Amino acid sequence: MLDLDPTADPPDCAADGVWLTCIDCAEQFAPFDEIRYTCDDCDGLLEVRYANLPTFDDFEGRGVWRYADALPFDSGVSLPEGDTPLHDVPRLESDVGVERLRIKHEGMNPTGSFKDRGMTVGVRVATEMGVDRLACASTGNTSAALAAYGARAGLETLVLLPRGKVAAGKVAQASLHGARILEVDGNFDTCLDIVQDLASLGEAYLLNSLNPFRLEGQKTIGLEILEQFRDEEGTLPDRIVLPVGNAGNTAALYKCFRELEASGALDPDDVPALTGVQAEGAAPMVEAVEQGRTETRRWDSVETRATAIRIGNPVNAPKALPGIHATGGTAVAVSDAEIQRAQRELAEEGVGVEPASAASVAGLRVLRERGVVSADERVVCLTTGHLLKDPDAAAEAGKDAEPVPGTTDAVLEHLGT
Ligand SMILES: *Cc1c(COP(=O)(O)O)cnc(C)c1O
Ligand SMILES: [Zn+2]
Repeated sequence: MLDLDPTADPPDCAADGVWLTCIDCAEQFAPFDEIRYTCDDCDGLLEVRYANLPTFDDFEGRGVWRYADALPFDSGVSLPEGDTPLHDVPRLESDVGVERLRIKHEGMNPTGSFKDRGMTVGVRVATEMGVDRLACASTGNTSAALAAYGARAGLETLVLLPRGKVAAGKVAQASLHGARILEVDGNFDTCLDIVQDLASLGEAYLLNSLNPFRLEGQKTIGLEILEQFRDEEGTLPDRIVLPVGNAGNTAALYKCFRELEASGALDPDDVPALTGVQAEGAAPMVEAVEQGRTETRRWDSVETRATAIRIGNPVNAPKALPGIHATGGTAVAVSDAEIQRAQRELAEEGVGVEPASAASVAGLRVLRERGVVSADERVVCLTTGHLLKDPDAAAEAGKDAEPVPGTTDAVLEHLGT
């Protein structure tokens, strides 16, 4: 991946010190003159670049827009988002057996997932471009976030969902916030293929994580983790473990670290090891890391109860794989049973997450057992979505209700008192 050079002059195409660069051929483009999601020349992924890279001293205020100096605008379409808790989980920490374990609960964003961080920036860009229809393919949370932020901005939204494979809470959100919901006969990757076609035909503005501006918003997860951890622990985490679907977050965190390194705000030795976790039934990134490849192979058939990461063709792999390698991280696959166990363990500490989120903790446990993660590590696990997103999965993982008659005596008898 291309180095960031903080001393280079911005290219002529830059607007207010912001431009786009192709990660493959290094071609540069103006950021807002034309709608483009990939490189005109080679179809490579685009990355947002800045003439001025921020240090921690530049940040003020709260939430995603605290980090405006690291973003293409000073403000966005906001609900507001970010500022999520970094939970202590003492029992889980000693059970897994690491020096320190904190849970960055991104389920505490306005629509219940980290996707809000990307949308506050992405929808702001959409308003800048003057588009009138927004669209995404989604395993659920992107559609919920897009529907809410699109509604907030007064724009029409269209979401393509894999039929029967989206958790109930997410469909309900997209529906109530007024998105037009197309249930596609196919998996997420099919939905993304179609919505990319619609976007290139000019039918809609694409707000999947292929859109480089969304990743800018998601970058703030990394900035927030580093600041919170530093302020509360007096040091930085050795490792960040996160669930991987389209690998947008992995790419965004890596970009966060590269920019901080280039500005001198982060010592290269202090960069946390990016560690991705996938479900066994949808693990193309894990396969690529294990085989030392720089590209993923598309899995046409994927399955996992963790529907948010039921993805066989992670579009951001070319940005994310170099991040895993460069930070000394790794990737690991976990079973649905391991995910459910981790979901319960988090719930026992009062932290309610959806299945995909629990994959991070399940993956940490596996890597600790294998000795890949050592006992003296300080780790942050990212939990990406809220428990209520998937009420069916929560009920399956949790305790059954006990029917009782409607009298106190009968309830006391039932309790065995
Ligand atoms: C979108 C999502 C993911 C996957 O994130 P990527 O950036 O696509 O890798 C994981 N968990 C939840 C809950 C999500 O909504
Ligand atoms: Zn290119």
